Amino acid sequence: MSSVSRIEKMCIDKGMKMTGQRRVITRILSDSSSHPTVEELHRLSAEIDEKISIATVYRTVRLLEEAGIIEKHDFGDGSARYEEATDDHHDHLIDVQGGKIIEFTNDEIEQLQRKIAAEHGFKLVGHRLELYGVPLKSGK
Ligand SMILES: [Zn+2]
Repeated sequence: MSSVSRIEKMCIDKGMKMTGQRRVITRILSDSSSHPTVEELHRLSAEIDEKISIATVYRTVRLLEEAGIIEKHDFGDGSARYEEATDDHHDHLIDVQGGKIIEFTNDEIEQLQRKIAAEHGFKLVGHRLELYGVPLKSGK
């Protein structure tokens, strides 16, 4: 764990003090593409350093969220999920049976949202879109 992860780099740029435990947690978040919960982050962190408590993971995640480094999502299953905040926007499709989270972008949806905002006299500056589905029986 000698190299600096993307999220750790952002923390350093923002002047956050990086302890060994924070480095472990930020590295796991950087490497993850699965929108982990605090519990999942804690399990993975504890595999690397068993002294990392869930309270430390909670505190670190809250700090990163407040700094705008990670984004919090609520996908309707009662657990907050986190991912690195990036400039490339994407939306989410959630498989409510299997729990799989699929990322997508759709230009028509983006345009439609801008159009709706404009119709109400607004310039769109952001949005959140979550689709919830179950797999179709045949095919994919
Ligand atoms: Zn995502």
